Amino acid sequence: MPSVHPLRSPAPKLPASSVSDVLAARGASSEPSLSYEFFPPKDDAGVEKLWATFDELLESAPDFVSVTYGAGGSNREKSFQIVERMAPRVLTIGHLTAVGATKASTREILDRYASAGVSTILALRGDSPKDQPDALERGELRTALELVELARDSFEIGVAAFPEKHPESPDMRHDAAVLKLKAEAGASFGMTQLFFTLEAYQNLLAENQAAGVSLPIFPGLMPVANARNVVRMAELSGAAIPSKLMQAFEEAKSDDEARAIGMEYTIELGRQLLEAGAPGLHIFTLNQSGPALEVARGVGLVSQ
Ligand SMILES: Cc1cc2nc3c(=O)[nH]c(=O)nc-3n(C[C@H](O)[C@H](O)[C@H](O)COP(=O)(O)OP(=O)(O)OC[C@H]3O[C@@H](n4cnc5c(N)ncnc54)[C@H](O)[C@@H]3O)c2cc1C
Repeated sequence: MPSVHPLRSPAPKLPASSVSDVLAARGASSEPSLSYEFFPPKDDAGVEKLWATFDELLESAPDFVSVTYGAGGSNREKSFQIVERMAPRVLTIGHLTAVGATKASTREILDRYASAGVSTILALRGDSPKDQPDALERGELRTALELVELARDSFEIGVAAFPEKHPESPDMRHDAAVLKLKAEAGASFGMTQLFFTLEAYQNLLAENQAAGVSLPIFPGLMPVANARNVVRMAELSGAAIPSKLMQAFEEAKSDDEARAIGMEYTIELGRQLLEAGAPGLHIFTLNQSGPALEVARGVGLVSQ
């Protein structure tokens, strides 16, 4: 059974009531938080695996978890079912997208999250699904900012942050200005897109500081356990993989060797992020416990 590292005291048995509470408690003792992201699986086998993964990761005493949400509501029901089952056991952030939604339907979803015991949402715009390219134009909410404004009276709100800029943004300064609007509208923390260098995170913090944004930003850390998959995800999201790492993957003699290279890289990046003052690590689990735990142990947030 994994136990928390002496550097990080256990999360309280009762779920914390907000990310701000976690930050206050951890900040007071200068301890980083540990959290995990899950996604709603496509089939029954995936659902079974998700719950086994969740149970195993819960033993590492995460401060919170989050569950993604299909833009356009594609996997909405599954997201709810998962969130409803996780929320009584650990602080659970429900992701929510605005794309294609009406204000009334969004309020209904917020009500449902509230009934499930969710007090924190990650307010996102989402992207138009491939089969509905005009979804964003058809919806009533056009930006995540409008979702922040709609939800802020009833929820604690986190928002997306982009260490290598949002693909539609002209530059990082624009992103920082938008983040500032979200903070002024009531968002209380940011969570990043995947990225692979300390420099990317530091650039984001520097842009935010220059724009006067003081939101804590949780780095999203992707365990590079399967090089091929992660390279594909990086391409889709626009995250740059350092050429040295790509070269090491190309020279790896087996998948096992590539995995070892990728995981060592992830753990080192996690350590550097914590040393650089990240408030915690939000690990993208891809619904697998092994790589996530390996990273949490490797960076010292969970004992070996
Ligand atoms: C941590 C994290 C979790 C995610 N989880 C999910 C998920 O569960 N489901 C999902 O479908 N997607 C998810 N996404 C992806 C996200 O929905 C997309 O990246 C989307 O393209 C942008 O979302 P956003 O909330 O940043 O949008 P917005 O903040 O609306 O930004 C979108 C673009 O519009 C610009 N913009 C926004 N507001 C303004 C303004 N007022 N003035 C000028 N420009 C503006 C921004 O600069 C940016 O270029 C996640 C992303 C992250 C980082």
